[in-house]
Amino acid sequence: MNVTFLPIWIVDVGGSVLMIVLAFLGVRYALRLRRRDSENIVWAYLLWVCLALALFAVSRSVGHIVKQMLIISGHQETWALIKPYSGAINTFAFIMVGAVTLFFERTWTLYDSILQGRTALEVAHGELSHLNQNLERLVEERSRALARSEDKYQRIFQESKDMLLVTDRGGRIKDLNPAGRMLLGMDAAGSQAPVGGCFAECVSLEDWQTITRSIAAQGFVSSLEMDLKGGDGGRRRVLLSGGLVSGEEESDTLHFLVKDIEQQHMAREQMAQADKLASIGAFSSGIAHEINNPLGIILGYTQLMLRSEDKASARAADLKTIEKQVRHCKSIVEDLLNFARTSAPKKDLCDIRTVTDEVLHFFRGHAKLEGIRIETEYDPRIGRLLLDEKKIKQVLLNLLMNAHHAVGREGTIRITTRLMPNGQQACIRVEDSGPGIEAKNLTRIFDPFFTTKPTGQGTGLGLSVSYGIIKNHGGDIWAESTPGQGAAFIIVLPLPADQRGR
Ligand code: ADP
Repeated sequence: MNVTFLPIWIVDVGGSVLMIVLAFLGVRYALRLRRRDSENIVWAYLLWVCLALALFAVSRSVGHIVKQMLIISGHQETWALIKPYSGAINTFAFIMVGAVTLFFERTWTLYDSILQGRTALEVAHGELSHLNQNLERLVEERSRALARSEDKYQRIFQESKDMLLVTDRGGRIKDLNPAGRMLLGMDAAGSQAPVGGCFAECVSLEDWQTITRSIAAQGFVSSLEMDLKGGDGGRRRVLLSGGLVSGEEESDTLHFLVKDIEQQHMAREQMAQADKLASIGAFSSGIAHEINNPLGIILGYTQLMLRSEDKASARAADLKTIEKQVRHCKSIVEDLLNFARTSAPKKDLCDIRTVTDEVLHFFRGHAKLEGIRIETEYDPRIGRLLLDEKKIKQVLLNLLMNAHHAVGREGTIRITTRLMPNGQQACIRVEDSGPGIEAKNLTRIFDPFFTTKPTGQGTGLGLSVSYGIIKNHGGDIWAESTPGQGAAFIIVLPLPADQRGR
């Protein structure tokens, strides 16, 4: 070998060996990086480039080393033979590097768009999960608000003192609150809800038709006053408002609010009754006064004529009949005047117990009472009351006579006295086990001349006179009755001032 070529030879062979070493080190590091992040396309590219370079380094370096060996050993012709192959391998290695680079450029674009897509997806995912969290929070808040609102309305429904009712269009009960159960006479605490029962049956057919007609025409019914039948057969005055629920699912559902106005109704009736009786009283007292004087004159003249008549004559008998009838008229006029409260009561302090016992004594002596049990129960807390004894006795006797008439041959009459809870009044209750008073007559029995007794048996003045007497004492009188279960007359009288509130 030519000595002048020695440094070049060393550099060529050494450089080739170094190139192979460096190329494989590059492959090794590229492999490491690729393993660390297998999805990173840059490391993939680097690995491919390093592999291509390694191939190129091997091909080129081996080519150069083999070339130098063959030249040194004088086999230039052999080198000339394999030289094109070495060149081809080098070219292939370069093509590979170029191809990898080109391929990388495409892949990079793809990777970039995937990366952008991925970033967009990650952003969208972040936004979505944020929205989702917000939505969950919102749903949770709404659910809590809904539960609170549901709880609030449930409490209103349960605790309302008025009847709240949900029915279908046919009146079949879907839901009813405890106040409604009470009003309908169902056990409020009972577990058996009256769901499925028919509300339409609790009102009269006429009222139910008014309700359904109004709902069909305008979608609601407002403040309809009517009677409600309770489970116990009793009736209560109520005010009903309600309407159709116009939700799609529930278009068949009716909601009602029913207010119990029995107390107000009774007070109204009593006031109307008092007004009516006051005007009848004023009217009848006017007439009674006018008639009283002529009757007195007729009676006086009749008695005068009787004195001068032969007692056995027919004329005397006629005059006696006139006298009897005029006296009867006078007693009616007297009753009317009593009713109109024209004559002032002569009040004294009396023991109501003694007064009642004396009336009972008289009553027992004059009425046929076999088969009738009379019970008394006096409240010892009631002291002496300021009464017109004669007139109160008249009232009690009238009530006892009516009770006797009502029970007939067999039954019970019960008199009780009681101090009213307000501590201001005493109450006397006369009740009987008779047939009771029809609801339609309850407001009429105190009217003068109202009677259900056959002609000749009742004048219809007893209760109206009693009413006048009690009102004249600053008291009140009314009747309570459930037909078929007897009647009760309640008298309330004020206590004298020194006994009040004790
Ligand atoms: P009269 O007794 O002459 O009919 P009242 O004024 O005393 O007149 O009574 C009026 C009406 O009230 C009676 O006709 C009767 O219909 C009714 N009534 C009164 N008390 C009772 C009673 N205890 N039970 C049933 N009805 C009664």
